[in-house]
Amino acid sequence: MTETDASGSEGGRLVDGFGRVHTDLRVSVTDRCNIRCFYCMPAENIRFKPRHELLSFEEIERFVRVAARLGVNKLRLTGGEPLVRHGLADLIAKLRAIAGIEDIALTTNAMLLAEQAEGLRRAGLDRLNISLDTLDAKKFAEITRRDVLDQVLRGIFEARRVGFANIKLNAVAIRGLTESDIVPLAEFARQHGLKVRFLEYMPLDGDEAWTNDHVLSGEEILAMLAARFGPLAAIEPEDPAQPASDYRYGDGSAEVGLIQPVSQPFCHRCNRLRITAEGQVRNCLFSVQEWDARALLRGGASDEAIAALIRASVGAKRQAHGINSPEFVRPERAMFQIGG
Ligand code: SAM
Ligand code: SF4
Repeated sequence: MTETDASGSEGGRLVDGFGRVHTDLRVSVTDRCNIRCFYCMPAENIRFKPRHELLSFEEIERFVRVAARLGVNKLRLTGGEPLVRHGLADLIAKLRAIAGIEDIALTTNAMLLAEQAEGLRRAGLDRLNISLDTLDAKKFAEITRRDVLDQVLRGIFEARRVGFANIKLNAVAIRGLTESDIVPLAEFARQHGLKVRFLEYMPLDGDEAWTNDHVLSGEEILAMLAARFGPLAAIEPEDPAQPASDYRYGDGSAEVGLIQPVSQPFCHRCNRLRITAEGQVRNCLFSVQEWDARALLRGGASDEAIAALIRASVGAKRQAHGINSPEFVRPERAMFQIGG
């Protein structure tokens, strides 16, 4: 048996104190966004980071190169809204060329996707997750504080047209607001060959208005889907570390996923690490500690020093996020400042 040292390393891989091997890195490329989802951003008085504080593409590339040598093989680019970062396709092309990186995904609100889909595909982007919580234009505007549903739908259809397969829709489910959107979204996804994943609302909203009562649980969603489509069957995950629990409709026609960080935390199978747009490494969405990679990247540090920082972050990972515990402390950052 290989021994795990206290600094998060095992045979060169990133293994934490609970045996979880970290192979998935979420890279936030900006904290800016072109919409204002209430569960993520405050409506106003948002202080975005000035441009010079964000990692440059070269800095991101170097960080990923070091992480790849430690066994990271999957990347997800996120934000804020990653498509507002100028030249994102160029970054994707650079990351694609890094040895060991096998898969690059992007999470986007799709506002700018119609214009960028083709370039992203050409740059080597493998997969797309698109956030869409409702098909009702009025409710969409209520949630995002912007009246742009048509633009998002155009983005989705254009992404399909340029050849993205297995597009996933992410829908945050909120009690008292989106119950009536669950079945229409599932129907839309089935009709267009997309996979929808319903995501429980987490305490990461900029307004700090989240309470447990707002969480529409995966179990309730499953019951709504079963009432409309008949019983669904649980299916084996494609990837054992994936956050979603997948189900197939009784007629075998399509799949749907549930991501239940609040009601069914999946911390025990977490293999994810994050770096914020300004270069702070986080070992959890709910981490209250960060490791300053930017200081190393800008301070002439060696690759080994950057690797040591990544290992330190993994080595310090807590067993679970503890949202449901009375001792839970919200991170200071809201979702858009971390990268979902
Ligand atoms: N702007 C992009 C987007 O919306 O797809 C990427 C960044 S966004 C922060 C990533 C994902 O986090 C989105 O699917 C969004 O719906 C989800 N999200 C944001 N705030 C959330 C919250 N408080 N609870 C659950 N999911 C949240
Ligand atoms: Fe922007 Fe995504 Fe946050 Fe919505 S969830 S405000 S689209 S970063």
